[in-house]
Amino acid sequence: MLNLDPYISKTPGFPKQGITFYDISPALEDPRILKQATDALCDLAAPMQPDLIAGIDARGFLFSVPIATRFDCGVVMIRKAGKLPGTLYQSTYALEYDNATLALQHDRNIAGKNIVLCDDLLATGGTLLAARDLISMAGGTVTGAVCLIELTGLKAREKLSFPVASLQSYE
Ligand code: IMP
Repeated sequence: MLNLDPYISKTPGFPKQGITFYDISPALEDPRILKQATDALCDLAAPMQPDLIAGIDARGFLFSVPIATRFDCGVVMIRKAGKLPGTLYQSTYALEYDNATLALQHDRNIAGKNIVLCDDLLATGGTLLAARDLISMAGGTVTGAVCLIELTGLKAREKLSFPVASLQSYE
């Protein structure tokens, strides 16, 4: 079983007092861990039978592409507000320490497809729920989500109607 903990840096008090920021940068820069984490995320995503991987802006993009190539499927980008041209589906939600809006282009070919969401970290679950809403608006079905880190104390799983799998948990 992969132990990612040594490759996740923790910064107490960022971005504000009382919050600890978990950063996957050490895992990204170690080629052995990068490959092991990608392989492990693929194993977790396999039962979710993706037709497409939806990477969430921005750190979710990093793993969405290697996972998609493993499943011979494509990637769709779920982006923060103001980054995408064209007609958009939009969903606004509360983050652990902020509000945010996610967007998805109408032009993406999502209807009828099984979508697996990919992000770096699951905290309150607001981001994955907003992403799920966007996929639903576009006619797709979220069959699951994979993340590197999960903050279990925030009990996001209780709010999510689809399976979530993560590599490293913190209370
Ligand atoms: P949630 O919506 O509360 O589940 O927060 C998850 C989202 O916020 C993800 O897109 C993360 O990238 C980001 N996020 C929240 N806390 C952290 C953190 O400690 N490190 C890195 N990203 C975080």
